[in-house]
Amino acid sequence: MEEVIETPVRGRVFGAVPPVVAARSLVKVFGSVRAVDGVDLEARPGELLALLGPSGCGKTTTLRLLAGFERPDQGSIALAGDVVAGDGRFVPPERRRIGVVFQDFALFPHLTVAQNLGYGVRDKSSRRRRVAEMLELIGLADAADRLPHELSGGQQQRVALGRALAPEPSLVLLDEPFSNLDAALRVRMRAEVREILLLAGATAVFVTHDQEEALSLADRVAVMQGGRLLQVDAPAELYARPVDAFVATFVGDADLLPGEADGQEVDTAIGRISAPGSPAGPVDVVLRPERVRVWLDGTGIGVVHRIEYFGHGQLVEVELPAGRRARARLGPSRDLLVGDRVSLAMTGDVLVFPAGPSVSAAAGE
Ligand code: ATP
Repeated sequence: MEEVIETPVRGRVFGAVPPVVAARSLVKVFGSVRAVDGVDLEARPGELLALLGPSGCGKTTTLRLLAGFERPDQGSIALAGDVVAGDGRFVPPERRRIGVVFQDFALFPHLTVAQNLGYGVRDKSSRRRRVAEMLELIGLADAADRLPHELSGGQQQRVALGRALAPEPSLVLLDEPFSNLDAALRVRMRAEVREILLLAGATAVFVTHDQEEALSLADRVAVMQGGRLLQVDAPAELYARPVDAFVATFVGDADLLPGEADGQEVDTAIGRISAPGSPAGPVDVVLRPERVRVWLDGTGIGVVHRIEYFGHGQLVEVELPAGRRARARLGPSRDLLVGDRVSLAMTGDVLVFPAGPSVSAAAGE
């Protein structure tokens, strides 16, 4: 049966094309650590896939396995349908047609921008053309003869990306591509990198521990924890329908409120919350700050602990009994002050998960 795929952000539709990269039951063990523990992952043509998770969850190891810098202990990796690792095969990195953008950009310091861009293009006859195309694509035609140290951080990043794209790789891998840039530049470069990859028609997998970066840049986000892949979905789907409390709290802001559910409603510190179809028994309710309402109430259960005021709005942190807290994103009107006693309620759909060990792990992240 022909599979039709619509990439969530770009809206392209593809026929029965094999995934650009497909990892199956991938395992990588270092001593007693199962760094990657049974990962199944695919990147579709033209898509930008983010690997997101906390430090040590196995993102970089997964990327290194895809690149061929590590050999899997179990499982397989196929590029455009051809097995490059597993089933007794191992194709080395230089023969995988994969471009890599390293965290520190790793530009050759003694080579000019143009020379850096042309470095990986083996075919001499097309090198000049590809360098010109890349200079245009990354918007550095005026800086072709400069050395890396004569460039800004953002420009260096664009060269690193252009150098990875120049040999027309089937897949581009980016390892924490923005971590070397300051906060303001990081936000700008996200959009630029996305635009460049889109214009190049590249398929890319990038690693990040920054959920905002993953949500804003990727077509789909793969959330990892403890070497395992918990969920792979489009950003909006991931945010609206996380598979568990860990994903809910790691992707987007959320606080967890314990409660006792009967399948229809949940009894919590802030009152009874309607949640039809939720599991019965001890649960955690996911409080998204934009879904929490807070109002002054002399007999309320919460106390305003902190207010972060942004002008266009504010984030109000409320202390609840038993050391719990809830954050609410409110409009700019300054009705509340630190120390005020308040009541809280939730609006919209409510996410409820059975209470369990993964929940406390998530809350601690
Ligand atoms: P970070 O965001 O901190 O880079 P990560 O999610 O990329 O983390 P990995 O670097 O893939 O995580 O590491 C996963 C686990 O494997 C960690 O416990 C790490 O200490 C371990 N690990 C990774 N590489 C090696 C290695 N070469 N030798 C031993 N252990 C390793």
